[in-house]
Amino acid sequence: MVYEGPFEESFDVIVVGFGFGGAATAIEAHDHGARVLLIEKMPHPGGISICAGGGIRCAKEEHGALEYIKATNAGTTPDHVLREYVRGTLELESWFRRLARVNGAEIGLRDRQANYPFPGSRSFQYVLVKSVPGFDAASEYPHVHGARDGVMVFKVVHDNVKFRGIEVRYDYAAERLLTNGNGEVRGLRVSSGGRRFALAARRAVVLACGGFEADYETQKQICRMRFLQSVATCANTGDGIRMAQEAGAGLWHMWNLHASYGFRSPDPACPFAIRVKRLPDWTPNAGAPGGEWSTWKTSDVLPQMSWILLDREGRRFMNEYPPYLQDTSHRSLDVFDTVNLRFQNQPAHLVVDDEGRKLYPLGHQVFNDGACQPYRWSQDNLREVETGVLRRAASIEELARIIGSDPAVLDATIKRWNRFCAEGRDADFGRPPVSMTPVATPPFLVGEVWPVLSNTQGGPVHDERQRVLNSFGEPIPRLYEAGELGSIWGHLYLGGSNLSECFVTGRIAGREAARHSPWS
Ligand SMILES: Cc1cc2nc3c(=O)[nH]c(=O)nc-3n(C[C@H](O)[C@H](O)[C@H](O)COP(=O)(O)OP(=O)(O)OC[C@H]3O[C@@H](n4cnc5c(N)ncnc54)[C@H](O)[C@@H]3O)c2cc1C
Repeated sequence: MVYEGPFEESFDVIVVGFGFGGAATAIEAHDHGARVLLIEKMPHPGGISICAGGGIRCAKEEHGALEYIKATNAGTTPDHVLREYVRGTLELESWFRRLARVNGAEIGLRDRQANYPFPGSRSFQYVLVKSVPGFDAASEYPHVHGARDGVMVFKVVHDNVKFRGIEVRYDYAAERLLTNGNGEVRGLRVSSGGRRFALAARRAVVLACGGFEADYETQKQICRMRFLQSVATCANTGDGIRMAQEAGAGLWHMWNLHASYGFRSPDPACPFAIRVKRLPDWTPNAGAPGGEWSTWKTSDVLPQMSWILLDREGRRFMNEYPPYLQDTSHRSLDVFDTVNLRFQNQPAHLVVDDEGRKLYPLGHQVFNDGACQPYRWSQDNLREVETGVLRRAASIEELARIIGSDPAVLDATIKRWNRFCAEGRDADFGRPPVSMTPVATPPFLVGEVWPVLSNTQGGPVHDERQRVLNSFGEPIPRLYEAGELGSIWGHLYLGGSNLSECFVTGRIAGREAARHSPWS
C-alpha cells in the first residue's frame, strides 16, 4: 500500500520470517554491512525449516546438476535462475564450515544421487550437520516435536544470528508492504502486541515467510485436491504471497506441493497431520541416458513397505511406493468421480496384516508449535487401535464392512495382491518387488489416509538476483524473497533442495538487499 510515513523505526534491511531462508538472508545482509531486523510472527523461531530432514542438497559439479534440474523443472523456471541456484549450492559446504566455527558443529558430506533417472543425477551430494557439541534439542527448542536432523542445522544458523547480534523480534507479524507513489518498497506495516505500526526498510525488504501450508482458502482455489492438511505449521498462511501480490508480483509454481499421504491426528485440537513412515527413495540408474531405475530384485536399498492402499471400493489404485513418496504420492489421491460426485480415493484406506504391523510404526508426527501436544505413535501400532487412528478387522469380511466395500471385490483385490507378492511382480502398478509384503495374516489393521502437505513451492516470481518480479517480468524496486516462498521447483522435486534453496536464495537476497543505497 502507498504510505509515505511517518515510520516508527528505521532499519537498512527488514527480513520477514525466521526459518532457514530468513536466517541466511539476515546473516548475509549483516555481513555485507546492513543493519538488519529479522521479524517472526510466532513466539519462537524455526518455521518448518526446523522440522526438516536436514540433508542440504548440493551440486558436486555445475554442468550435470544443471542438466538434471532443467529436466525436473520441465521448462517452468528459466535456465539462468536454475544456474544461479546450482552455482550457489557449490559454495554451501564452505559456507557451513565457516558458520560452524561459532559453535563447533561437525559438518560432513554424503554422496547421494538425485531422485529421478535423468542425465546428471549423479552430480549431487548432501552437506550435513553431523553434530553440535552440547546441543540438546528438546531443551533448546521445546516447541518442536518429533524433530529430525533439521533441528541441528537450525542450531547452527541460529547461533550465527545470535553471534552477530542481529536483532530478532518475535510475535511480530508483517501485514503489508509499504511503497512510495512509484511502487518502490519503503517498509512494512507490522502488528505486534495488539498494535499496528510502520517500519522503514531503507535499503530493502526481504520476504522469507514461507508458503501457504496453513492457508486452506488459497489451497482450495489452486489445488483440485480437497482435505489437504499441513503436517508442521499453522503460521505459513501465504502472507508473503498476498503482500507481494499487492505490490504487483506475478506468481509461479502455485500448484506444486511437496506432499504425501498420511493420517489425521485423533486429537481434534491438534491441527497437524501425521505422515506415513518415511521409507527411502528409489535409486535411479543414472548411467542410462533415457533414464531407468535400478533392478530392485538385486537391490537391498529399499525396505519392505508393510501396507497397501485401497480406494472406496476396496481396489488398489496406485503404486503405494512411488520413486519419491514425499514428493508425488499425494497426486494419485486426486481423482474426482464425476458420476458419484466424490473423491474416489479420499480418504484412501491403508491396510496391513498382523505380520506387517510388527515391522515398524506406520506414522510419525513432526511439527513446530508450542501450543499443541504431539501424537506419539506406538512401536507396535497397537495404541493406534485404541486412539481410533487404526481399526482392527478379524477377517476380510469385517475389513470390507469397515471400508464400506463389497467383500467379494475386496477379497479379489487381496488375493491378486498376494499373488503378485508370491510372483515378485506388481503387474498393476509396478511397485518395487523388494517392497512388496503380503496381506495375509489376520487380524488386519486399516486406517484412513489423506493427502498431507509438507510444504508448498509456489509464490512470487523472482529472477536470479532474488528480486521479486511483477506480472510483466520487471523487478519491484527494493523487494526480494528467499526460501520456499516463490520456490524454483515447478514440476518434480529434488530431495533436500528446499533446504539448499533457502541458503542459496537467502545469501543472494541478503547480499543484494544490503547493496542498495538507502533512500532518504
Ligand atoms: C516435516 C518436513 C520435513 C521436511 N524435510 C525436508 C528435507 O529433508 N529437505 C528439504 O530440503 N526440505 C524439507 N522440507 C521442506 C523445507 O523444510 C522447507 O521448504 C524450508 O525449510 C522452508 O524454509 P523457509 O525459511 O522458506 O520457511 P519456514 O522455515 O517455514 O520459515 C518461514 C517463517 O516465516 C514466519 N512467518 C510467516 N508469515 C509471517 C509474517 N506475516 N510475518 C512474520 N513472520 C512470518 C513463519 O512463522 C516461519 O517461521 C520439509 C518440510 C517439512 C514440513
